[in-house]
Amino acid sequence: MSVGPVIGVIGAGQLGRMLALAGTRLGARFAFYEDVPSSTSQTLGALYHQDQLDAFIDAVDVVTFESENTPVALVERIVARKPVFPPAKALHTAQHRGREKTLFRSLGIQTAPFALVNSLAELHDAVNAIGLPAVLKTTTEGYDGKGQAVLRCQDDVDAAWQRIGNRELILEGFVSFSRELSIIAARSASGDVAFYPLVENAHVDGILRLTVAPAPNVSHELTHQAQAAIQSVMRELDYVGILALELFDTDKGLVANEMAPRVHNSGHWSQDGAWTDQFENHCRALLGLPLGDAGMEVPVAAMINLIGDLGDWQSALKIPHAAVHLYDKAPRAGRKLGHINVTASSFVELQQRIEAIRALQP
Ligand code: AMP
Repeated sequence: MSVGPVIGVIGAGQLGRMLALAGTRLGARFAFYEDVPSSTSQTLGALYHQDQLDAFIDAVDVVTFESENTPVALVERIVARKPVFPPAKALHTAQHRGREKTLFRSLGIQTAPFALVNSLAELHDAVNAIGLPAVLKTTTEGYDGKGQAVLRCQDDVDAAWQRIGNRELILEGFVSFSRELSIIAARSASGDVAFYPLVENAHVDGILRLTVAPAPNVSHELTHQAQAAIQSVMRELDYVGILALELFDTDKGLVANEMAPRVHNSGHWSQDGAWTDQFENHCRALLGLPLGDAGMEVPVAAMINLIGDLGDWQSALKIPHAAVHLYDKAPRAGRKLGHINVTASSFVELQQRIEAIRALQP
């Protein structure tokens, strides 16, 4: 009879799947809960509890979630019976861009200037205060660039309100950045923190395409700034698990954009490039185990997302030091179907391998 702890995951997409792949190595078992079935739920068999919350809670020792849109009320219901990590207050903060940026500011972390707007009149006031260009976003439920508009001139203001308004929005000053970075860290219940290196991310149409680890040309000062920022957020939220912080690199230092209270796409490279990958460290934190070394096991690594179409992934298996990770999801435009990690001994070699992998994509 098996005796391993059971980790419950709210959500059953690729992040839950990769958590289970990593946690299974540590002797853990998994159960998944969703109210609406997701793309990969069929493959989970008896581990999967659709709309059977009590049975799910009975079956697990500790619970985590794979989406920042997990209802806080659901987490609070579970917390009454089983521990949930990251804590509900981290989820509550991350679900609202205004709360998130207010937290960053209170901790001395730079953000874009911002204002919450609830009407077209308030939007005009905010544009006057913040100036143009600016970025208008929904305060909640935005991800991968959805529910956003860039305002370049006054004519854009009314049009953007028509398109995404009639709900609470946030207007952010346009940050002139040289590149997008992120930092991921794991925190244990006893307060130990393991930092992954700062990585550089490239997006297309708001969706992450490529992560390079470590980010090239990163000074000690930049690393220190990013680590201090994520550590202060984690401490403030009594955080347990993996947290990701998305940052803009600017000539005035790092500017925080948003955080994700979960394992993050910009940390997938760690499966093949770090001593302990983000999924394992998240499981370790949930289970009260010591955190693993989040440093790089190789000089450089990259993650290329497979979006909408897997392309010739079989040929990618022949590329040296490439590892294919597929999520068993049906192809659909804009959908993340898998990723390919690749490692190398130098950035030059890494770039050649990235190009070889990209040549196999549609
Ligand atoms: P987000 O949903 O906040 O991650 O935004 C999606 C993308 O829009 C980011 O990855 C940036 O490329 C861009 N973006 C978001 N906010 C700003 C901003 N305030 N200034 C400039 N670009 C932004």
